[in-house]
Amino acid sequence: MAANAIEVSRISKTYADGTAAVEDLSFMVPEGSCFGFLGPNGAGKTTLMKALYGMVRRDPRPETRVSVLGFDPAADELAVKHLCGVVPQEDNLDAEVDVGTNLFIYSKFYGLPAREARERIAELLGFMELKEKARARVSELSGGMKRRLVIARALMNRPRLLILDEPTTGLDPQVRQLIWDKVRGLKREGVTVLLTTHYMEEAYQIADSIIIMDKGRRVLEGPPRELLSRGIEAWVLDVLDPDASGGLGEGPLSAGVRREEGGYSPRFFSDHPEALRELAARLPSGATHLRPTNLEDLFLRSTGRKLNDLQ
Ligand code: ADP
Repeated sequence: MAANAIEVSRISKTYADGTAAVEDLSFMVPEGSCFGFLGPNGAGKTTLMKALYGMVRRDPRPETRVSVLGFDPAADELAVKHLCGVVPQEDNLDAEVDVGTNLFIYSKFYGLPAREARERIAELLGFMELKEKARARVSELSGGMKRRLVIARALMNRPRLLILDEPTTGLDPQVRQLIWDKVRGLKREGVTVLLTTHYMEEAYQIADSIIIMDKGRRVLEGPPRELLSRGIEAWVLDVLDPDASGGLGEGPLSAGVRREEGGYSPRFFSDHPEALRELAARLPSGATHLRPTNLEDLFLRSTGRKLNDLQ
């Protein structure tokens, strides 16, 4: 069995104003895996990441234990910083200098000799597909390029653990795919990846295991596909036209079909798509949409709330 890169037992964080951002979370992250935290805005994901790399002081509770690559960030912040690469939510790049210089300045923090730094920079610009932008100023980069640069920067010191806080928020689907590919590549090289996201697709695509979080607490934990197969039916029929749903009446449903009231119109869940197709046939064509269920459906079912109201 792989060793754990991270072991956390009963971590909590309450801010000075009384906000309980993280409440009593425990989890383990096997080395070389990608572990995701999925939850809506305000779930406590960023706070948790910051507590892991020592940017936020967790509540000093006697029952709490935290080990990040063998170190406790509350006691050994510097050791953790040297072993981790962090991609924060905000692109905190130096806008006045060019791409290569941004990386070069960063290499100094890690005490890399100049020659080695230049080699590493060339390698990372190649890896993140930014080579032709080496001399461009940060202010001339698109949002997706900036994100890729922040990731390259986080990889400067060849970290064993990469922490990605909402890595693709606001980016277009092509850049998102590219970043997912790179994360998969890093994982193949043995890097452990910790990821926060409010995109269920992101968690599904790249995380081996996830914790679904809400209001600082764990709602569910496990490999995404397993969570789905255990927690919710395989198929859902969305009724797109609320007026049409009247046609389904309140009458009995076929066996194995569950009706859920939500939003504008009811939704029907089943493991048997044919049962849902039969139901759809009672409504005008185009009034329904049959699809496989996803983590968003599971989140809604578990919390009664949407994962991403703004998406
Ligand atoms: P997420 O990353 O899931 O969006 P955050 O960790 O940013 O969640 O926030 C969790 C909760 O903590 C939210 O209610 C947020 O308003 C609150 N919070 C975050 N940072 C601070 C802070 N510095 N002071 C007080 N409350 C904060």
